[in-house]
Amino acid sequence: MVQSKRLAAGITRTNREMADGRTIRYYDTALQGRTAVDTRVVEEQPTIGELRLDPLVNEWVAMAAHRQGRIFLPPKALCPLCPTRVDLVTEIPDSDYEVVVFDNRSPSLRPPDTEWALPIPAGPDTKLGSAAGKCEVICFTPEHGKSFKDLSPSRVRVLLEAWVDRTQELSLEPYIEHIAPFENRGEEIGVTLSHPHGQIYAYSYIPPRVEKMLAVAKLYKDSMGKVLFDEVVAREIRDEERIIARNDRWIAFVPYASRYPFEIHVTPLNPVADLAQLTEQDRDEFPSIALEVMRRLDGVFGIEMAYIAAWHQAPVRVGRDLLRLHWQITSVRRAPGKLKYLAGSESAMGAFIMDMRPEQSAAQLREVKL
Ligand SMILES: [Zn+2]
Repeated sequence: MVQSKRLAAGITRTNREMADGRTIRYYDTALQGRTAVDTRVVEEQPTIGELRLDPLVNEWVAMAAHRQGRIFLPPKALCPLCPTRVDLVTEIPDSDYEVVVFDNRSPSLRPPDTEWALPIPAGPDTKLGSAAGKCEVICFTPEHGKSFKDLSPSRVRVLLEAWVDRTQELSLEPYIEHIAPFENRGEEIGVTLSHPHGQIYAYSYIPPRVEKMLAVAKLYKDSMGKVLFDEVVAREIRDEERIIARNDRWIAFVPYASRYPFEIHVTPLNPVADLAQLTEQDRDEFPSIALEVMRRLDGVFGIEMAYIAAWHQAPVRVGRDLLRLHWQITSVRRAPGKLKYLAGSESAMGAFIMDMRPEQSAAQLREVKL
């Protein structure tokens, strides 16, 4: 018998096992029976990769050499994220779906077989680790030619509930420290499948940027007694000129010191640590602002913007009272035909140079007629 789990807003999740043992989860609004069977021949699974410490900056680097052979921009007729058809067997056994999440076939991070621990950093003497964690793929719609911005509000609500559910479940795994759902869009930034989808990376270590934000937030709390992110949002509300959208529960702004030609942060007005802490009212109000922001972004030049949209959450076990949930959208598109490349200063030195003022980028986003 197929068991479904009830989530919020009338959404259910049905788990199914794929031919090779991976799990696929259907997130539905109409209690669809999900019984389709994955009939594919099982391929050999790659083993877990290496985790090496870059001792100069104490940052972990996951080595996943087996990923070289993965599918690169297949034609639509061979898309592995479309529903299965008579003439095409894909990753999704069913002939239709709303939102699905399945375990990545070539994951950079995978669950460890044995008891697992992160090696203790000891400069060049740090032991070799294994790249523990989990990588999942999330498909936003069965319609191949669509984008996030074309989704209905109710579909975005299902998508958000899937992100919430994955955050809750993955947080229970003892080897997972941080969960980051994100979407890459556009060939310019290395997207290998054009079907509207995102990924969920669950790390066994705290990623470098989160580690840095955590350290800065802790210093601020110790000296000022306040949560840094809340003060940043308060400043954006005071300054007003970089706000591009808001509703009763959410606000979207171009940050004061943004690093990309178009960078937008979307955050709930009642701050929370992660997706799982969002109230139902917050969740219900997310689709309208999310769709508005994405439509504004594409409206700036009237073209599909390449972007990265990533959820920043507090880590699973530490800093829960220091970091806040926000959705960061960054685009390297400066103008039609012009991209910002992360070159010498940015790539080698980590020092960003912006060609335009964030206030100008916010004004352009606000002026888009929806
Ligand atoms: Zn497709």
